[in-house]
Amino acid sequence: MERRAHAMLFPFPCSGHINPTLKLAELLHSRGVYVTFVNTEHNHERLLRTAGGLRGREGFRFESVPDGLSEEDRRSPDHTVKLYLSLRRSCGAPLAALARGLIGEREGVPPVTCVVLSGLVSFALDAAEEAGVPAFVLWGTSACGFVCTLRLRQLRQRGYTPLKDESYLTNGYLDTPIDWIAGIPPVRLGDVSSFVRTLDPQCFALRVEEDEANSCARARGLILNTFEDLEPDVLDALRAEFPRVYTIGPLAAAMHSAQGHGHGAAGLSLWEEDAACVAWLDAQAPGSVLYVSFGSLAVLSLDQLEELAWGLAATGRPFLWAVRPGLVAGDRGADALPEDFLAATRGRCFIAEWCAQEQVLRHPAVGGFLTHSGWNSTTESILSGVPMVCWPGFADQYINSRYTCGDWGIGLRLDEALRREQVAAHVEELMGDTGRAREMRRNAARWKAAAEAATAPGGSSYESLRRLVEELRVGDADADAWTAGDP
Ligand code: UDP
Repeated sequence: MERRAHAMLFPFPCSGHINPTLKLAELLHSRGVYVTFVNTEHNHERLLRTAGGLRGREGFRFESVPDGLSEEDRRSPDHTVKLYLSLRRSCGAPLAALARGLIGEREGVPPVTCVVLSGLVSFALDAAEEAGVPAFVLWGTSACGFVCTLRLRQLRQRGYTPLKDESYLTNGYLDTPIDWIAGIPPVRLGDVSSFVRTLDPQCFALRVEEDEANSCARARGLILNTFEDLEPDVLDALRAEFPRVYTIGPLAAAMHSAQGHGHGAAGLSLWEEDAACVAWLDAQAPGSVLYVSFGSLAVLSLDQLEELAWGLAATGRPFLWAVRPGLVAGDRGADALPEDFLAATRGRCFIAEWCAQEQVLRHPAVGGFLTHSGWNSTTESILSGVPMVCWPGFADQYINSRYTCGDWGIGLRLDEALRREQVAAHVEELMGDTGRAREMRRNAARWKAAAEAATAPGGSSYESLRRLVEELRVGDADADAWTAGDP
């Protein structure tokens, strides 16, 4: 019997997971699905402060569960590890209770029919099982990033990682070709993932990543923020292992289609957005500005900050740099920028703590993006037709950057050891008027059109979302009758 689908969504509590999950929530809601979006209590409070108005829409409610962290844990340098462990300890039971309708406001709320989780919270699969509803995972990376994360287990078993000693980080070992990952062209070992760079046989992060990715096999379906034309080979290979893969990206574009249906955008941010940067962009020439941002998690050493700053200064071009609190080691932000750098770039540099990145990338003044190749940032740039200078440093950022600069032809890669001369040279090559720059701009325009086509009615992502909503509508009573098949 068909009833209103009710999706309970729970992302790992950081921007890179919350933002795409929130977009998926909006999309599902725009297609008639009842949504309960679950944050940690800590982030719920933060979101209320920065975004306001989280409550009060028909069929879209927010709930929260405790993350179990003390204030001291929150300030600790390894707070993400603490958060991961603490969530596993303290969130499963309240999530299961929410899914079973035992806590939270209930009036007029239909029963939860499925749980949608992001990566890194696989314990929510148990909560879904306990509540007797199917689970879907929105894995927030590229398809290539997901497949590479799955294969960390084989890399470990075949002895590629952990590394024998420190010298392996710099002696060319990371250039070892890896040509046996189905769907992925031959790549450098170092590009498969940041997690291969460990010397520790028990490396916590490596184990967590491979376990979390492999646990997705327990879910009813896998949802990816990518589109078919962007990663066709790897998606084919992935479907041999995961029968239900829903490619619904780029989420930012899919959101525009949903807004066409009269729904609001998921413009939530854990930091206050600086609106003045958009006014500053309005005053700049088309295509002249380099946007610089390393997402919500990256931390630069003071040396790296200086190399970047002076590299940007040397270009002579205008740039907008998002320097969030905590971007610089020692919990520092813009206060760590050298005074003489600020003086040297005055008038052509705008430092914001945090911006409305999608709006910034879509702004006609922006002609290039210096990025850490986080997947959200990469897809937002693809959707805006903006070519990139890539400086990956963590997780899937290396493989994203490999595709950006290789197969997709829309980027230039900086070396791991940041040098101001290379920063300046790459930015110049990206933003200038060379044949290569023009080619990257042409490719970027082509990928933008492909992303728009995928999310427009009838496009591959649009249809994939439609199929996903159909699956969510099937009640758990019918779950046993489901058969694996091409979604
Ligand atoms: N972002 C933003 N304003 C900023 C910097 C980043 O809104 O000043 C957003 C960006 O649009 C993206 C997210 O933060 O959606 C970062 O996600 P990504 O996957 O690129 O990197 P992560 O933060 O996970 O490393």
